[in-house]
Amino acid sequence: MWLKMEISEKISSNRRISLPEAADLENFSLFELGRFASMRRNFADPSGSVGYISNRMINYSNICAARCKFCAYHAGAGKIKPFRLPDDEIISLCTEAVERGAKQIMLQGGLSPEFTLEWAENLLRRIKSECPKLWLHVFSPSEIVWFARRSKTDIPAAVSRLKSAGADSVPGAADLLVPEIRRELCGNKCTVEEWCGVMRALAANSMTSSATMTFGMGESFQQRLEHLDIVRSIQDETGVFKAFICWPVSPENTQIEGKVDRVGANEFLKMLAVSRIYLDNIKYIQSGWLTEGLKVAEIALLFGSNDVGGVLMDEMVVRAAGVENKAVVSQMEKIISNAGFIPRERDGLYRTILKSV
Ligand code: SF4
Repeated sequence: MWLKMEISEKISSNRRISLPEAADLENFSLFELGRFASMRRNFADPSGSVGYISNRMINYSNICAARCKFCAYHAGAGKIKPFRLPDDEIISLCTEAVERGAKQIMLQGGLSPEFTLEWAENLLRRIKSECPKLWLHVFSPSEIVWFARRSKTDIPAAVSRLKSAGADSVPGAADLLVPEIRRELCGNKCTVEEWCGVMRALAANSMTSSATMTFGMGESFQQRLEHLDIVRSIQDETGVFKAFICWPVSPENTQIEGKVDRVGANEFLKMLAVSRIYLDNIKYIQSGWLTEGLKVAEIALLFGSNDVGGVLMDEMVVRAAGVENKAVVSQMEKIISNAGFIPRERDGLYRTILKSV
């Protein structure tokens, strides 16, 4: 047990806390964590602004061999009929998104034999040719590992080829980086080592990522910290992460429904603050309005967050679990102003496009 005063002193003088010290954060009150996370936020980003990006999420297929137990989106969960968007339709969605002001698209699908590295390269080339200014924040580490396996190549070569085809950055999509949890809940996805391998390959190709954490799957507080520790170590090593985003799992309509307690706003805010305090090497911490809703996202800005992520069009994965949250730019700007910060529209590299006064 570390003295609370010692840890508080380290946090407020912007010094790193160790993994054993972080374990004591579980005993801090929610408001203490909020106060310390806000201090850390100001050390990392004294601008007083909060970013958002106009973004379209394109879920191109739900046919997925991974069948993760916490996922309601894949066809095997029986919630959404199996589908695959034709490539032409994906291109149309991209061009329409640009017309509607989107600066970034995300592509997220499933692990299916139809999807190879060659298919992904061809699709990215077509999108870049039609929409050269669109930032392509595409595929997950699991999809990249899948492409590499299907096309009998390794992770560094797959990442390099995706970059040449037009990929700009890759979402972290880490779930929980705890081997025993992954074996139990998502054993067919990439391993922790493979996830780290994708991050190293992205860094080697001068690409960026956003680390994530999905929690509330029956793990302990210590296991959440282990996840954060892997993220912090990879960031120390590579500097690949522009941002970190955490959100609670939505267990409804999944195999873990009824087996885990749904994480409430209080616990979400606590983990957000702990993440900000622990991840002293990541500038942008996003608040997850998609799962938690805009009201909680507003409060989250006082728990260490300095980005509200994308104004999403057409997201399907979270909706499959029965969570229906929507946001338009004016709503995003309102919650940011309400919390006392300046809204700024940003691009895929977190550079300011437009700042409100
Ligand atoms: S979480 Fe992703 S990899 Fe897992 S079943 Fe769902 S779509 Fe497939």
